[in-house]
Amino acid sequence: MPHRPVLPHFPVTRKPGPGAEPAAVPAVPAHSAVVVGGGISGLIAARDLARRGFAVTLLEAGASVGGCVGTHSVAGLTLDSGAESFATRSRAVPDLIGELGLSDAVVQPNRVGAWLQLSGEDTAAAAQPMPQSGLLGIPADPRAPEIVRAIGRAGAARAALDRILPVGALARKESASLGEVVRARMGDAVLRRLVAPVVGGVYSSDPDVLDVDSVAPGLRAAIAKHGSLSAAVASMRAAAPAGSAVAGLAGGMGRLSSALEEDLAALGVKVDTGVTVEAVERDGDGWIVSAAGRTLSAHALVMATDGPTAVDLLAGTVPELAAARPGPGPGVALVTLVVDQPDLDAHPRGTGVLVAEDVEAVEAKALTHATAKWQWLADSTGPGTHVLRLSYGRALSAAAAAAAQAAQAAPGPVDREDADLFAQALTDASVLLQVPLGVDDVVGWDVVRWVGALPSAAVGHRDRVAAVRTAVDAVPGLEVVGAWLAGTGLAAVTADTRARVAGLAEQLEGL
Ligand SMILES: Cc1cc2nc3c(=O)[nH]c(=O)nc-3n(C[C@H](O)[C@H](O)[C@H](O)COP(=O)(O)OP(=O)(O)OC[C@H]3O[C@@H](n4cnc5c(N)ncnc54)[C@H](O)[C@@H]3O)c2cc1C
Repeated sequence: MPHRPVLPHFPVTRKPGPGAEPAAVPAVPAHSAVVVGGGISGLIAARDLARRGFAVTLLEAGASVGGCVGTHSVAGLTLDSGAESFATRSRAVPDLIGELGLSDAVVQPNRVGAWLQLSGEDTAAAAQPMPQSGLLGIPADPRAPEIVRAIGRAGAARAALDRILPVGALARKESASLGEVVRARMGDAVLRRLVAPVVGGVYSSDPDVLDVDSVAPGLRAAIAKHGSLSAAVASMRAAAPAGSAVAGLAGGMGRLSSALEEDLAALGVKVDTGVTVEAVERDGDGWIVSAAGRTLSAHALVMATDGPTAVDLLAGTVPELAAARPGPGPGVALVTLVVDQPDLDAHPRGTGVLVAEDVEAVEAKALTHATAKWQWLADSTGPGTHVLRLSYGRALSAAAAAAAQAAQAAPGPVDREDADLFAQALTDASVLLQVPLGVDDVVGWDVVRWVGALPSAAVGHRDRVAAVRTAVDAVPGLEVVGAWLAGTGLAAVTADTRARVAGLAEQLEGL
């Protein structure tokens, strides 16, 4: 796409003449905005500003928009390369989908749920359906039979102490990791065998790294209120809407990015891909954005990139952000296999498998059996052909990282060769699904790497987010959005971006 300056410098408003009907979108917009980053957050920001009459330019470094909500083609199938579902705990994503005319495409995943692979000499015997009554793997009832099966009688007895242990200092501590809270209340077995596999799958991270208040907002307050972690989990589960916790789109979540892109075109938003923004600076009451040898000026600037990029680009204008610069997120490699293997029609491990860290026979941290999870996909492959997605890589706790370094551990998953990851995925899928899969069964495969796309939510994250918000709020015409502030996941990103951008628009419209 050719690069050319697209925005007039501070366009003027054309005032409607006497008796004229106010136009829905001003012929000459009163305000202009540049959105940096074309992931879901940037797309939503651009759309909401354009709908309010702003002249908007969106600059995206990648070859296409969507960020983590993208697609790739494997064996002739268009598959999601990143996000493949959205949480239904709030109306944020369903409402957006409705506005884009996609409500009819919303689908529920197969209700059979996923499995949990625990360590054990007999891999098949050490697998069980994932207990579904918890929160991030934390059980609401540690004495339930499926929990006892997963953590053993001794582990369950320790976990049950949660009911009688005093709440103590945990609730009052300024910040704490998820691991710290679970270990203190329910012991190590719950942490390693139930919670770690779930957060490894969702956040590609270790519970000892994650800030409990960021990944489970309200949990510590609920512990203080109800007197135990299990009662807190039960109360939060009861408050969640009934039905499946996630939904998807027939055809894949990539349709959301495409629909947003189409809507931006209809709204007259300039979308430039392949443009990496190199600098942003204040210019009077507005902003100048530099990229690929050209500059754009605008009244408003929305930074919708990853955290480190946003902080670095704003370093000259909002230096206070430097102290809150997040660490790089974990690198993740996803290996997608499309296989012809009719034995998988029985969905031997439901919608997939979450893997405990100490399972030595398997390197993947999770496997999604996509054709078992999504009926629309099974319909498009037909019986006997299956889509499997295995994920590799998670952020380690400081202790685990030090141990890996001392042992001169092999390169991380993102640095491994494609062919190596492919061979590993075939081996892992065979073990996890208990169905032998060979190279001859594979009709297509692909490796997608996500580096830093899952933001780090390390301990203290909530406070760092608050510090960023305070610093950004003090700068007129600036908003910073995205998963690094809103929290990982489309529900969080959508709700937060819309609220933030509405605030920015109101601020400028009020001038
Ligand atoms: C593998 C994977 C699977 C996931 N699965 C799910 C799921 O099933 N359900 C769910 O709800 N969530 C899921 N998520 C999380 C969810 O996708 C993200 O939280 C969300 O999409 C983040 O959107 P964003 O706009 O904040 O960031 P991003 O999607 O990361 O977008 C940021 C954009 O900024 C661009 N950019 C960066 N620097 C510059 C620059 N200097 N100039 C211009 N552009 C720049 C990047 O190229 C990128 O496109 C998943 C994430 C990953 C990585």
